[in-house]
Amino acid sequence: MQPSYEYQIQFLQNIQRILKEGVFVSTYKFALLHAIADHCIETGSDNNEELTITTKALAAKFIDLYWMQTVKFPNESDSDVLYQNNGNQAAIINQIQQARKVNSKLSIFKSHQEYRQLLTSVSNTIKQMPLWKLQVVSDSTVEFLYLQTAKGNVITLMPGVSYCFRKFYGQITDMVHSAWIRWIQKATNNQAMLGQNINLESFLFESKRSNLQLFIPVLKEEQHNNCFYCDRQIRGAPEVDHFIPWARYAVDLGHNFVLSHKNCNGDKSDYLASENFLDKWVKRNLVSGDMLSSYFDDQKLTHDLSTSISVSKWAYKQCSDNYGLVWIGHQKGFTKLSNKWTSILQSIAD
Ligand SMILES: [Zn+2]
Repeated sequence: MQPSYEYQIQFLQNIQRILKEGVFVSTYKFALLHAIADHCIETGSDNNEELTITTKALAAKFIDLYWMQTVKFPNESDSDVLYQNNGNQAAIINQIQQARKVNSKLSIFKSHQEYRQLLTSVSNTIKQMPLWKLQVVSDSTVEFLYLQTAKGNVITLMPGVSYCFRKFYGQITDMVHSAWIRWIQKATNNQAMLGQNINLESFLFESKRSNLQLFIPVLKEEQHNNCFYCDRQIRGAPEVDHFIPWARYAVDLGHNFVLSHKNCNGDKSDYLASENFLDKWVKRNLVSGDMLSSYFDDQKLTHDLSTSISVSKWAYKQCSDNYGLVWIGHQKGFTKLSNKWTSILQSIAD
């Protein structure tokens, strides 16, 4: 069962209404919409079911989103952390700045006791600030995501909401990013900091490539220094490829990475890999998943195999629904995705 097309269009219009007509004293509502969308990918399903999300789970996503934004903005003169609130800095940004003093690398910080405390305080801020205000526009409430109970530690997304976030994830996150960027640019306390030539989108939302270097040793060993895609030896510097492309779902979870040639990676670009590669990736994680997990734990690299599987199911389902193309290899081009992906992913799901 899926929601009607009328419902889906209304849903997108409501999202747009929130972004256009809502009051934004801070960027929390953008983060909240983003966090809800991410949860729908990671724990939701493609039917009409409700989905329950705890404020702690939302807090974890807030921290992921704001962490990389809480560094000094790269500018020669007035360098500071960008303001995410009118007037004083946003409380969550202040909390993350404190946390960064414990360890500036989020994946390592997550293993500290202080991470639990940060989750609690961010979760409290979410309850006080954006959670019960998100659906308020102008002078009315558009209650279409969850009931405005205005209390408790969970929200329950109404039937159809998770379906729409999964189906329109790319469009919705683009809308949220654009609105977020416009907010940052307009905030008067940011204007001295913002130069003319800096790509704000990249600063706010793109992962820092250098982090991925830490994944190389274990992947090199697991793949015997061969390219995941063409199976030939990698001479020179290898590249860490997001198997489910970052452009489709921006998360750095260990089991999503494979090692490849620069050319193979560049050629694959933002496409999904064909069913043969999907099968190889699933088998890699069935056979070496535990070994990879323990390496990731040792190195304090973020990983969660079941989430990686959920994300891959979502990505292939979307591609299939849209009759999308998948990449079949360097200089081989693309083909239409067949139905084989469902049985391949089924083999690791249970
Ligand atoms: Zn290759």
